[in-house]
Amino acid sequence: MILPVVVYGHPVLRKVAEEIDEDYKGLKELIDNMWQTMYKSDGVGLAAPQIGESIRLIVIDADVLAEDFPECKGWKKVLINPIITEFGEEECNESEGCLSLPGIREDVKRPTKIKVEYEDENFELVVEELDGFIARVVQHEYDHLEGKLFVDHLSPLKKRFLKGKLAAITKGKVSVSYKIKTA
Ligand SMILES: [Zn+2]
Repeated sequence: MILPVVVYGHPVLRKVAEEIDEDYKGLKELIDNMWQTMYKSDGVGLAAPQIGESIRLIVIDADVLAEDFPECKGWKKVLINPIITEFGEEECNESEGCLSLPGIREDVKRPTKIKVEYEDENFELVVEELDGFIARVVQHEYDHLEGKLFVDHLSPLKKRFLKGKLAAITKGKVSVSYKIKTA
């Protein structure tokens, strides 16, 4: 089932999401719904708070970015209860967008390398070192679990320039090809 995507201004996007375990009710269906919702809206990642569930669950399929970022090739994963345990020292700027912030794209500075621990959809522990754009995608989605959005990384000046756009999104006054949910 395709779900509406919660957009900027909704309080669920500002909550720190809860850990889950294998007994979480309807998890398989929820993951399936998140894949469908992500593909329908042409996203490369979706965090559960973006469909209104404040739990630590992320789906990512970054394969469409492989032409520009080879490290994204075939990178399709479910991340449950992720923790970024290490951030590299080197940082870089790349343009980011977000399904919860339709119409906004801005450069965001982030570490180029991370180490992440998470459980996969079978609750098997995975430890990975990521480098390049996929490290950025994971950091962006991880931020959602911490109640953060990519615009929080921008300078106050840049954020001020976006004020009108953000206010419009809050009211749902945006043109998007997928269903959205405002507060
Ligand atoms: Zn996002």
